[in-house]
Amino acid sequence: MTYQPLSNRYQNMQYRRCGRSGIKLSAISLGLWHNFGHVDVYDTYQKTLRLAFDSGITHFDLANNYGPPPGSAEENFGRILKEDFFNYRDELIISTKAGYTMWDGPYGDWGSKKYLVASLDQSLKRMGLDYVDIFYHHRPDPETPLEETMQALDLIVRQGKALYAGISNYPAAEAEKAIHILKQLGTPCLIHQPKYSMFVRDPEAGLLDVLAREGVGCIPFSPLAQGLLTNKYLHGIPEDSRAARSTGFLQKDQVTPQRIEQITNLNKLAIQRGQSLAQMALAWLLKDDRVTSVLIGASRPDQLADSLKALDNIKFSSEELASIEDILK
Ligand code: NDP
Repeated sequence: MTYQPLSNRYQNMQYRRCGRSGIKLSAISLGLWHNFGHVDVYDTYQKTLRLAFDSGITHFDLANNYGPPPGSAEENFGRILKEDFFNYRDELIISTKAGYTMWDGPYGDWGSKKYLVASLDQSLKRMGLDYVDIFYHHRPDPETPLEETMQALDLIVRQGKALYAGISNYPAAEAEKAIHILKQLGTPCLIHQPKYSMFVRDPEAGLLDVLAREGVGCIPFSPLAQGLLTNKYLHGIPEDSRAARSTGFLQKDQVTPQRIEQITNLNKLAIQRGQSLAQMALAWLLKDDRVTSVLIGASRPDQLADSLKALDNIKFSSEELASIEDILK
């Protein structure tokens, strides 16, 4: 049946400015790393994408290598774009990235201009798009000069193949250098995508301050620690979970007794706040103005529906914050 988006889709979402740019992002964005590959079920991820758009999510995040197999998430997203969102391209912020291994030989990985330009061309073909809104360098390359990688992002933006440039997984000092180079080139860095959650606190050690000072947005990925920060693993490892799937990036040995104890205690606190653990984990990131949006994954529409309710309460009392630190220490 032809998809008709809900007419009130923008009413319940919050939109937050991305650094000092002209762009606002939905406070919750949806990533297609897992759950949208050829190994996944079309009907399920189509429903998830429709629910996302109906709920006011405007930002969808991809990368060349998402699947499995690599590239298939972009292909599947392209198909759904064509079927469902064809008339709504101007309401979407679509991002993709290059930086991890994508094809054999010396030009299918890392940060050369050769790789980034070719990879984006391939991504555009797979998605059936003329341009993406954000193109990211996916991870720092210790061998390619940072200038070359940033020149590639600048070139891509000037060619109109991406509207904005972003960086991901760059530690604070390297991020600052990259941001300065991009500024000099005249293509400001729109956004940084770091791993950040209650369980992964690295961005607090300088990166968030750099981004705030430089006017660059921040979109934490894996804000639910790949599902650990939900009620999913409270009683073991369910068969339908990322940790149990052979294609999942979360390993069974990451679900340790210590983690389960933390999750159990965080879950109790979430219940006291009238939230699910997933909702509390997302709210906890969004309480910080330096965070533009949280980039979640969802293997089913009902998970997305649950996570979206985080926005009902993103305030924490000082006692709640202290209890969380106590549990996490
Ligand atoms: P999350 O931390 O949000 O984990 C998502 C997983 O958590 C889901 O697949 C599901 O697990 C579980 N889940 C989600 N919501 C709920 C809920 N409400 N209740 C119970 N379980 C839930 O994020 P991801 O790790 O998926 O990463 C999100 C996005 O971030 C990616 O799609 C990608 O766009 C980006 N990313 C970027 C990286 C980078 O290097 N730049 C690296 C990694 C991710 P299950 O499948 O078990 O049901």
